Amino acid sequence: MLHTIMNIEAAGTLFVVAAPSGAGKSTLVNALLERESAISLSVSHTTRPPRPGEMYGRHYYFVEREEFEREVAEGVFLEHAEVHGNLYGTSRTTVQGLLAQGRDVLLEIDWQGAEQIRRSKPDCVSVFILPPSRAELERRLRGRGSDAPEVIERRLRNSRGEIAHAHEFDYVLVNDVFDDALADLQAIVRAVRLRSALQWQRHEALIAELLAPGS
Ligand code: GDP
Ligand code: ADP
Ligand code: 5GP
Repeated sequence: MLHTIMNIEAAGTLFVVAAPSGAGKSTLVNALLERESAISLSVSHTTRPPRPGEMYGRHYYFVEREEFEREVAEGVFLEHAEVHGNLYGTSRTTVQGLLAQGRDVLLEIDWQGAEQIRRSKPDCVSVFILPPSRAELERRLRGRGSDAPEVIERRLRNSRGEIAHAHEFDYVLVNDVFDDALADLQAIVRAVRLRSALQWQRHEALIAELLAPGS
């Protein structure tokens, strides 16, 4: 019994976080990663041009569309999707390598990618982040100052279609007061790590001691 549970739970947990553009997903995820060092963030490939300050290999692997499409054909991606007119994809080998080492991995991807991941990795834990209002979403997108006005308009137009998929996620949180939303996100990660099968594996020696016959 113990052996079976251990085999099933040997790999790390795959977290999937999605949100409409400007909801605060990257800010929340970066703050989470400062607090929970045992999670690795998957760096996606994208055909979107870099924003000022974005670095190759840190924020994204920025590639040409032709290269991206070749990689799709080669099966490089665990999931990929077209979002706001650009292609985005998650590297299969990177994610599977980290999970096999027992690391937790977090994907910051859109709802279409989340749908694909749910199909191939049904054990994943998915979180959707909502903004507190449409006006605040618009204010954050404009206030971030990273996108051209027409890009912002397109992202705002697309936000309804994305939010309509929020119910497909395991958890939904509202990023109103930042520290509250961060505490919610951290609570989700912590609760997942406390699931009994994982704890059974982690505390094998303790459980063996507690169950040992004797005085
Ligand atoms: P953001 O809105 O500031 O995160 O702007 P980006 O241009 O960085 O991302 C646009 C959308 O693409 C967001 O919904 C991201 O979650 C999504 N995205 C980023 N990387 C991936 C990926 O590897 N796969 C998929 N499917 N979506 C991605
Ligand atoms: P996303 O990754 O979802 O597109 P960002 O993380 O880039 O969004 O956040 C969009 C903007 O909103 C950034 O300027 C960020 O600093 C700001 N922001 C994030 N969370 C909050 C919050 N709770 N209150 C106010 N501003 C926020
Ligand atoms: P900027 O992109 O210029 O850093 O921030 C845009 C707006 O989002 C500003 O009003 C800023 O105060 C707010 N903001 C940025 N980061 C955070 C955060 O972590 N928490 C909160 N509560 N507000 C933030």
